[in-house]
Amino acid sequence: MPLWNPIDALLGLFSLDIGIDLGTANTLVFVRGKGIVINEPSWVAIEKESRRVLAIGAEAKEMVGRTPANIVAIRPLRDGVISEFEVTQAMLDYFIKKAHEHSFIPFPRPRVVIGIPSGVTEVEQRAVYDAAIAAGAREAYLIEEPMAAAIGAGLPVTEPRGSIIVDIGGGTTEVAVFSMGGIVVSGSLRVAGDEMDEDIIQYARQKYNLMIGEQTAERVKIAIGSAYPLPEEKTMLLRGRNLVTGLPDAVEVSSIEIREALSSSVNLIIDLIRDTLERTPPELISDIMESGICLAGGGALLKGMAERVTAETHIRAWVAQDPMTCVARGAGMVLENLHVLRQVILSTDQREIR
Ligand code: ADP
Ligand code: MG
Repeated sequence: MPLWNPIDALLGLFSLDIGIDLGTANTLVFVRGKGIVINEPSWVAIEKESRRVLAIGAEAKEMVGRTPANIVAIRPLRDGVISEFEVTQAMLDYFIKKAHEHSFIPFPRPRVVIGIPSGVTEVEQRAVYDAAIAAGAREAYLIEEPMAAAIGAGLPVTEPRGSIIVDIGGGTTEVAVFSMGGIVVSGSLRVAGDEMDEDIIQYARQKYNLMIGEQTAERVKIAIGSAYPLPEEKTMLLRGRNLVTGLPDAVEVSSIEIREALSSSVNLIIDLIRDTLERTPPELISDIMESGICLAGGGALLKGMAERVTAETHIRAWVAQDPMTCVARGAGMVLENLHVLRQVILSTDQREIR
């Protein structure tokens, strides 16, 4: 189905429907008729003593590493669980209000679908729901992120045939097998993009006595990191501080070395996929062998990830189109097709399934 059409755009003027991906690394907001209108890091800067929220999103991330002692910048969803509730609430409030700026309605009361990590407890689900209502939502629905990702990736989740998604985010990797609107088997792991960055930091320290920052590590991962041999291996200059001399230093590293550094995290992700496939009923496996393994999330963009999954599972793996926006788009699509997709919504409370 098309994600943008003029009729939807017109409807959007009168009622706001938004899909939110509360990711561990990035928060995205999809507005019906408009597409993705917000894409910001999931960071919040707070004053330590008073716990007052000072900045959210891109502005808060800017502060990382530059804050005075009484201000901390945190990622409330980092480990895939909503650990800091008030902070998550402030974030949701900020993003919903910001999405309003994109509408002409004076007092919009949006309907929202929020993708939440599949590990969250009922209490946390309830908390997110309440936060959305407190932020002015007329109706709020929660959906498990792998389900939203699969819908956004165009997988036939409501059909009586098996499909599978591997969502590699910042804090967590989630694997889920779907059939008839439900998750049949799933698995998750607190190893994803962040852990890969950490692997590179450790590698630079152990092999070169070089201390590098998280952001440098992430840049290296994106530029030359891989999960499978590259058609053409590359090199890159790694800048940091020499731990022996204490002075600035730079070394040249190759994509082969970085692949080696990332291998333990990548192996854990492969093990999770294999383990999930092993627990999948045979009928669904035969469907999956036809449709392939769909990869989503920022980690799906690691070079050679699909080739590696294909080689290890003997099932063709493919990267979803625009893998980092699948959850937000999928959440938005649920609102557009509530009559078909109602069954995929999580409900902890009757009010959510009116
Ligand atoms: P989340 O859903 O947890 O917020 P995302 O799906 O937004 O996470 O993915 C964020 C992760 O993807 C980060 O760890 C980021 O470094 C990683 N990432 C983004 N682009 C690439 C790329 N081209 N290669 C490898 N990793 C990437
Ligand atoms: Mg995600």
